Order: sequence, then C-alpha cells, then structure tokens
Amino acid sequence: MDAAILVPIVLGWVAGLFINYASDVLPRTRRFSQPTCSGCEAPLPWTDYLTLRACRNCGKKRSLRTWLVQILAVASFVYFWLVPSKALGFPLGALVLVYFGIITVIDLEHRLILHPTSLAGAALGLIVGTFIYSRKYELLGSVGMSLLGGLAGFGIMFLLYQFGTLVARFRARKMQAAGQADDEEEALGGGDVYLTGVLGLMLGWPAILAALVYGVLLGGLASIIFIVALLVRRRYASEALMTFIPYGPYFIIGASLLLFRP
Ligand SMILES: [Zn+2]
Repeated sequence: MDAAILVPIVLGWVAGLFINYASDVLPRTRRFSQPTCSGCEAPLPWTDYLTLRACRNCGKKRSLRTWLVQILAVASFVYFWLVPSKALGFPLGALVLVYFGIITVIDLEHRLILHPTSLAGAALGLIVGTFIYSRKYELLGSVGMSLLGGLAGFGIMFLLYQFGTLVARFRARKMQAAGQADDEEEALGGGDVYLTGVLGLMLGWPAILAALVYGVLLGGLASIIFIVALLVRRRYASEALMTFIPYGPYFIIGASLLLFRP
C-alpha cells in the first residue's frame, strides 16, 4: 500500500480529536475552553486530554464515544481519501465531515443544536455551496444558488416546526389528561431549523429539497421501527408520547448522501 495513505490516517485522527474536544466543551461552556473530566470536573491537562488518558484525579476513563469518534473519523477520512466526493473534493469534504461530526455528537448526547455552531456552519455552508455551483455559474450566480438553498432549507423546516408546536400543544393536553407531567419536548427542535438552513446553503437550490425528503423519510422510518418495538413490548401508550426523536442526524445523513457521492 502507498505511504500516502498515512495522510488521511493522521488527519482523520486529528479531526477525531477536534470533534471530541468541541463535543466535550461547547455544550458546557459555549466556547473553546479548557477540557474538564466528565466525572469529577477537574481540569484535564492538554497533554493528558490529547493522548486520551484517564483522569488523574478520579481515575475516570475517557468515554466510549471518544474512542468511537476517533475510529470513525480515521475510517471515514481514509474512505474519502480513496473515494473522494465529486462535489467537494477531499479538503472541503474533510471540513464538512468534521462539522457534521460535531453536530451529530452534540445532538445525540444533548439533543441540542447550538447557535454558535449553526453560525459557523452558515459560513462553511456558504463557502461549500458557492464552491459547488461555481462550476456551473459565475460567482454571483453560485452565491445566489447557495443562499436560495439556505432560505429553502430554513423556510420549509420553519413551517414544519410551527406545525410541530401545534402537535406538541395537542400532545401536552393529552399528557395532562393522562396524568403525566408535560415535559415540554418538541418533535422538531428549533435547532433543526438552523441546521437545515446550513445544509441548504451547502447543497443549494433545489438539491436541499432532496436532502429534506431523505431526512424526513429516514427519521420517519426510524420512528416507525421504534414505535413497532414499543408495540411489541405493549408499552406504546405511555412511552410513545414521551419519546423525542432527534431529527438532526437524519438530515445530516440525507445531505451526506448528496454531498459525498463519489
Ligand atoms: Zn476526574
């Protein structure tokens, strides 16, 4: 095998460290702060943190997620080095992968899409979208296609979100009637609206429509599987109403299907 394969392995490892770092500190402090132990909150020295050592204070090992992210980052970097995305090429594709990694981990762990990451994503999205459409249009035209996609991604999800709040209100009334406390969860989080706006900037118009359809179908399929599993266990009535589905990762998969085509 060619020694050049070391490039995506090393870059993928570094990318994994960054995804882990951002996912560890951003939900807590909203900025790039000193990492702390998730067990005892003691600050972790950078050398320990970056070499994935256990906490010296309480002995808590680094999470399973930390290792999963490292492995997945290296694997996907190697894959996209060998089979680069036609639309993005390797360098820009790598940046998008890191961004998607951070959003996915934070959304899965905290059910949260942070505004600063959405803002950073908007800048990245505009660059990616403009780059993709620059093969077809002049600069102004490609910026326009990216912005149009962003507007569509944001606008469509905003309407769905409004519909979702109506459903949530109905659900809250049902839960009160059933004697359960209203947990104020939303079917579609407000953060998803910003995320699909970012994905729209990346994909442009009309590709964002396909990504939204993929995302809704994948998310719907996952919900159906989940509900069937509950039905089998005869626990539908009480649990299905309590369950929140993070849609963000499904939209990211939908967009990735389009962005990372070889
Ligand atoms: Zn500790």
